Amino acid sequence: IFVDRLDETRRRRALVLLNPKSGSGNAREVFNMHVAPVLNEAEVPYDLYVTKHSNYAIEFMSTRRLDDWCSIIAVGGDGLFHEIVNGLLRREDWAKVLDSIELGIIPCGSGNGLARSISHGYNEPYFSNPVLGAALTVISGRSSPMDMVRVQLEQRVMYSFLSIGWGLISDVDIESECIRMFGYQRFTIWTLYRLANLRTYNGKISYLPADTEAAPTQAATEQSQQLEELRKLQSSRSCNMHIDKLASDSYSRRSIEYLPQEFEDVISLETSINQSFRSRCDSWLSGGSRRSCYYSISESVYHSLADESEFAQQQSSATAATTAGGLEHFGPSSSLPALDEPLPQSAGWLVEEGEFVMMHAVYQSHLGIDCHFAPKSQLHDGIIYLVLIRGGISRPHLLSFLYNMSAGNHLPEKNNEYVKVLPVRAFRLEPHDNHGIITVDGERVEFGPLQAEIMPGIARVMIP
Ligand code: ADP
Ligand code: MG
Repeated sequence: IFVDRLDETRRRRALVLLNPKSGSGNAREVFNMHVAPVLNEAEVPYDLYVTKHSNYAIEFMSTRRLDDWCSIIAVGGDGLFHEIVNGLLRREDWAKVLDSIELGIIPCGSGNGLARSISHGYNEPYFSNPVLGAALTVISGRSSPMDMVRVQLEQRVMYSFLSIGWGLISDVDIESECIRMFGYQRFTIWTLYRLANLRTYNGKISYLPADTEAAPTQAATEQSQQLEELRKLQSSRSCNMHIDKLASDSYSRRSIEYLPQEFEDVISLETSINQSFRSRCDSWLSGGSRRSCYYSISESVYHSLADESEFAQQQSSATAATTAGGLEHFGPSSSLPALDEPLPQSAGWLVEEGEFVMMHAVYQSHLGIDCHFAPKSQLHDGIIYLVLIRGGISRPHLLSFLYNMSAGNHLPEKNNEYVKVLPVRAFRLEPHDNHGIITVDGERVEFGPLQAEIMPGIARVMIP
């Protein structure tokens, strides 16, 4: 029985969703030239679907049978990834699906915050070749839990993996659409324009501080993942390989760290079989950039062999079906009061009220490839970094904040009168104006009150 199931699960495939309109519109070419060869050589079977319109990925993920796939790879930007997770979280079996399917992203969009955050979190260089790096990541066989945020708007619920914004940065993101022809420069141009015509917004922000001491470090998380990985490798005898030659850069340093003796045996056994892949990879990786790469299907095998009744149990206890706008909705249930009810007075909630230049709540290290917005943020730390800028801030102060965002030195070490960084578990935004822009994961949503809470580690993403 064991062998049968192993064979059966080995046949599970990767589902690739590609947005032909993302970024400069060449995702299809990028996939064919740089990603497909890696998947083929690594013998990862995949099914490719090209999105036909906006919301295609939401519909696809919420309605299809997904049993054949053990991973979902987004070839596009953060918008496509947002649709994928929101589709998955609309399913009745969302808990089982999120637990057994790993998510990956090949950065082809104009917003690639997630891909940048993942490579940053694991000290991978990003700029030399982001697409190849991501392609090697999706065949690595390694994954990490990732936090998501449940966002309650007045009329609906959505899930977010990147950010929620109100005020300046959201205004720039959305309003600068009209000068799209300037490419990435549009953000700089529009920021300068908005600085000259600075607006403030009135509102109330309530938040529940996070217990930052309790958060595990990325290193600790990684260590436990490596152990887990080793265990699986030893038990699954799936095909693994190791591409690595030298000991002089970050890649090989890492591989040595997590390459105990037991590992080496599996690798030497398999290297001969995969000689051709190995030499190909060597030639792909230009010059001095080397990395170790474990190709393994053991993770998916492991998941499928896990006790399925446990999944069923988890699902029935955690699933709360709510009716939002006539649409049946699943996904994890909220622990907050309803949006139109008051927050508990004494349960640790704090309030900031008045004029704001912006609020930006972020749970990845990067909002874009060169926007290092929340340097302390980790994939799975259970923390929302709530950044507030108050009205009355001087223009030079604001300018230096915005200017330093790309390097990640914009946040003050200690909160001051105008700029505050608050690690929180949940927050509620109640704008007092009746206009303005609110974004979730960089996309505009309806303006009005909202509340958000962290759902620690409910998704799994592939890591280098
Ligand atoms: P970018 O980062 O360039 O915005 P994304 O991949 O994030 O690229 O896509 C942005 C939006 O494009 C997504 O939110 C999605 O709704 C939309 N989209 C997806 N497929 C299509 C398509 N075939 N035609 C037009 N829009 C699409
Ligand atoms: Mg986080």
